[in-house]
Amino acid sequence: MEAAEYRCDGNVWQVYIDRSAEAMEWLEDTILKGSCGASSPSSAADRIANGVNWRATTVQWEAGFEAVIEAIMNYAVEKGTEIHFNTPAVQLVQNDDGSIAGIIGKNEDGEYIKVEAGMGTLLATGSYDYNVDMLRERVRPRDLRIYAHINTSPTDTGDGHLMGLAVGAAEDEYPHVVMNDSSGSKSGGAYSASVLSVLRVNDDGVRFVNEDLTLNYLSNAINYQHQAHDWCICDANISAMAQHMMGDAPFAPDDMTNAFIADSVECASVEDMAKTIGCDAAVLQNTLDRYNEFCDKGVDEDFHKSAQTLVRIDTPPYYLFDEGSALLVSVNGLRTNKYSEVLNGEGEPIPGLYASGNVSGSMFYDTYPHHIAGVSTGRGLTFGWLLGRRLAGVEE
Ligand SMILES: Cc1cc2nc3c(=O)[nH]c(=O)nc-3n(C[C@H](O)[C@H](O)[C@H](O)COP(=O)(O)OP(=O)(O)OC[C@H]3O[C@@H](n4cnc5c(N)ncnc54)[C@H](O)[C@@H]3O)c2cc1C
Repeated sequence: MEAAEYRCDGNVWQVYIDRSAEAMEWLEDTILKGSCGASSPSSAADRIANGVNWRATTVQWEAGFEAVIEAIMNYAVEKGTEIHFNTPAVQLVQNDDGSIAGIIGKNEDGEYIKVEAGMGTLLATGSYDYNVDMLRERVRPRDLRIYAHINTSPTDTGDGHLMGLAVGAAEDEYPHVVMNDSSGSKSGGAYSASVLSVLRVNDDGVRFVNEDLTLNYLSNAINYQHQAHDWCICDANISAMAQHMMGDAPFAPDDMTNAFIADSVECASVEDMAKTIGCDAAVLQNTLDRYNEFCDKGVDEDFHKSAQTLVRIDTPPYYLFDEGSALLVSVNGLRTNKYSEVLNGEGEPIPGLYASGNVSGSMFYDTYPHHIAGVSTGRGLTFGWLLGRRLAGVEE
């Protein structure tokens, strides 16, 4: 609620908080049943891992996320679900009274298929970040000045969002939020060692932020800089530093540092770095001296980052990484209530229409709270599961 400045639906959040653990247990006990290998839940609140503060809990399975999705799909098919692949939904069917009677899809042969949905129609078409017009209209221009766009679903073109609007649904107020990370590299990738809280300076060679922030806040601070980018600085001790900073985060330090170095400019001296950045060498030297002094003291007197992530930068060669933001997905959608019912402009449910995941709204404003780990996949699971239970009459 704080991250959204209370411009969101507290009742939706309360349901997520109250029921998400149960949804996760249902997934594990009823569907996965160990088929995806061991899960590694982590529930240490306020732990520092990967160089940033992570809150709440995360779960990962040995076999990876794709295996989890496949297990869910197989379970649904076993229970009689009919799946039409390559048949995008193109239009909702609306009755004269405004309620939704079903949906029409278009298959690979160009045929239209109408599905009548007696119980309800759930939109779960994901984000709209592959629809450039929608992005430009809804998202802050500065949030789109990114180096990397790393959603692997180019079919996330906002279809459900647009179909909902066409039948009178309301959407979250603009500007919309994108899930953003620091660590975007100019080559279009992300997730190198820059995701760690290494020293960062702007185009003036000046530090500007506690680098130990959660990824979205760090990314917002980077976007706020002139030209919406910054420079991560590591030195010859980069491997040891990555190992030290990442704590128990599930990343291989060598992979991270190699990727970082591959995308960096190697500089023999501070003067070289200043030349690449285009700043005054004396200013950059002063930034480094002050930072190293804080590392020696174990106290960051300027931005107060944690002592564990204060590591001296003093041994050439230096690695200079031109960092921008990485866009993962858009996370604002159609206004929904705690029952996942899609609301119209008057705040009333449109009978028969539901939304979950990134096509649903009401939870985020101004920033996506990365520090509540797993809330994106978590809300999709929780509200999808709850809606199924409600429509099946298992709960009110
Ligand atoms: C690199 C990366 C890392 C991430 N890490 C995390 C994380 O650690 N934790 C977390 O919680 N979240 C994470 N996320 C975000 C999370 O993966 C997404 O927000 C989440 O998967 C969204 O789920 P969804 O069901 O709303 O959409 P999607 O998973 O995108 O699914 C939507 C589906 O709908 C389909 N579709 C689109 N249009 C139509 C149509 N007209 N008809 C039929 N089908 C249609 C699409 O093809 C797609 O398969 C990450 C995202 C990225 C890109």
